[in-house]
Amino acid sequence: MQSKSAKYLTDRNEYLIQLSQPGKEWDILVIGGGASGLGIALDAVARGYSCLLVEQADFAKGTSSRSTKLVHGGVRYLAQGDVRLVREASIERGLLHRNAPHLVKDQTFIVPVYSLWDRLKYTIGLKLYDRIAGKLRLGPSVFISRKETIKKLPALQTKGLKGGVLYHDGQFDDSRLAINLVQTIRENGGDAVNYIKVVGLLKSGNGKTNGVTCVDTETNRPFTFAAKTVVNATGVFVDDILQMDKPGSEKTICVSQGVHIVLDKSFYPSSDALMIPETSDGRVLFAVPWHDKVVVGTTDTPVDEASLEPKALEKEIDFILDTAGSYLNNKPKRSDVLSVFAGLRPLAAPQNGEQKTKEISRSHKIIVSPSKLFTILGGKWTTFRKMGEDMVNKIEKEMHWPHKKPGSAALHIHGYSIDANWSDPFYFYGSDAALLRRQINGTVDQWLSEELKIHEQQVIWAVNHEMARTVEDVLARRTRALLLNAKESRRIAPQVAAIMAKTLGRDEQWKEQQLKEFNELAEQYILKSE
Ligand SMILES: Cc1cc2nc3c(=O)[nH]c(=O)nc-3n(C[C@H](O)[C@H](O)[C@H](O)COP(=O)(O)OP(=O)(O)OC[C@H]3O[C@@H](n4cnc5c(N)ncnc54)[C@H](O)[C@@H]3O)c2cc1C
Repeated sequence: MQSKSAKYLTDRNEYLIQLSQPGKEWDILVIGGGASGLGIALDAVARGYSCLLVEQADFAKGTSSRSTKLVHGGVRYLAQGDVRLVREASIERGLLHRNAPHLVKDQTFIVPVYSLWDRLKYTIGLKLYDRIAGKLRLGPSVFISRKETIKKLPALQTKGLKGGVLYHDGQFDDSRLAINLVQTIRENGGDAVNYIKVVGLLKSGNGKTNGVTCVDTETNRPFTFAAKTVVNATGVFVDDILQMDKPGSEKTICVSQGVHIVLDKSFYPSSDALMIPETSDGRVLFAVPWHDKVVVGTTDTPVDEASLEPKALEKEIDFILDTAGSYLNNKPKRSDVLSVFAGLRPLAAPQNGEQKTKEISRSHKIIVSPSKLFTILGGKWTTFRKMGEDMVNKIEKEMHWPHKKPGSAALHIHGYSIDANWSDPFYFYGSDAALLRRQINGTVDQWLSEELKIHEQQVIWAVNHEMARTVEDVLARRTRALLLNAKESRRIAPQVAAIMAKTLGRDEQWKEQQLKEFNELAEQYILKSE
């Protein structure tokens, strides 16, 4: 990564020209730098294929930075009877916990119990959840008494409480994992570039897809990349690429929006997460400790339009505040919300009998178009690696390539470190934390944000080592400032812009434009009080 990122920094254009050299042909070209695309590129390079991944915005700008931050088997899918998905996700949860121990932690969850029936249902259900995971389970589930539940969850309302069922799942930092995956892909011989938008597909004489035309959204320069196979891993935008392949193609996905709010830890001062399996309208609600705050969500609202920056609906915010308020002693108000973020689930279009978006299976699907464009639909962050493996297997089969053994199941992700100290503000850098600290060199108390523990060296690090190109890249995805406290992220944005401009060699006009764009964006994450 070091040499490649230095090249990327000093002459991005030169790097792009090298990637698109005449005569150069990639084995696999992946469109989309979210969980799905990264999983496919990871598997491709682990098998030794040449692979280029292009992302129109920043890596994980789409859904993949807006999840509930769970690496989970999916208790909800068990309730829906989807044992195969739970088994697959539980295995992947275990593998990711092994391969990225600096980012994925064993998180205990408590389901509060209000009746004997609840106790039986959740104890038996969660024991089954443990069994399905087999050796890769993170820890055993147990029933805990009312007294112990109250001790562990002091913020929980106690009226009618009979006890709780404690179980284990994984918790992670989604966009940090995406960045570390980009680094892993590049370190294993692959290439990945952000701010490159695919605008067309290239076809051979016999109508087969053999490359893409793109635009560098930083410079508006066009580029062409030739490839033996092209994969469409664009999440909620898959149908746009399918239209490029065959205008008039039928819709393959439907879009469901999920919203989270972030609150101060004082609303939920526990290290155990809260899981409400059935809210008033039958949804699941989580309160998960994350980076010294608590993330509460999510909703499941069908929406018509796919967007890179979806907006939380008022009714979704009200629902989360009301539902959280009915379980917590200290009811959160709009003015308590530090940040609100929305993400879009790219769900494979419903099958017969499925009506509501919450009922549509979260398992992934692969479509092979007559032009041999490969498209992946649906899935979860948790299963991104398996999705990648399935896609490369499919490509080998369809293209009649000899099968190569998949190698991502035991591949350590960049930053791998087993010494995670979750209370260290730099824990998410894993093995890079020591290098970063060396650059900080004794100035660790000079934070840009004392509250969010963001240091100016992290900004420089993000540009030099993590391909950050904009203020938003640094404040939303290299650090999580925008999601953790949107007002605070807006406060430090001018300093971040100044440091970036210096590091990237940009002028005053760039700085002003960046600030304007970031401030407009941050507005969406800040709730207006009534
Ligand atoms: C609210 C919510 C909560 C969730 N919580 C969890 C959870 O806790 N755990 C879990 O396992 N899963 C969770 N999921 C599911 C998971 O987040 C998604 O399945 C996953 O992030 C989807 O990744 P993706 O790569 O398919 O899509 P995306 O992340 O959206 O990536 C697609 C990318 O393609 C790019 N792209 C689009 N068009 C082009 C183009 N023309 N050229 C180049 N690039 C292009 C986009 O910019 C985008 O970055 C959640 C989903 C939601 C919505």
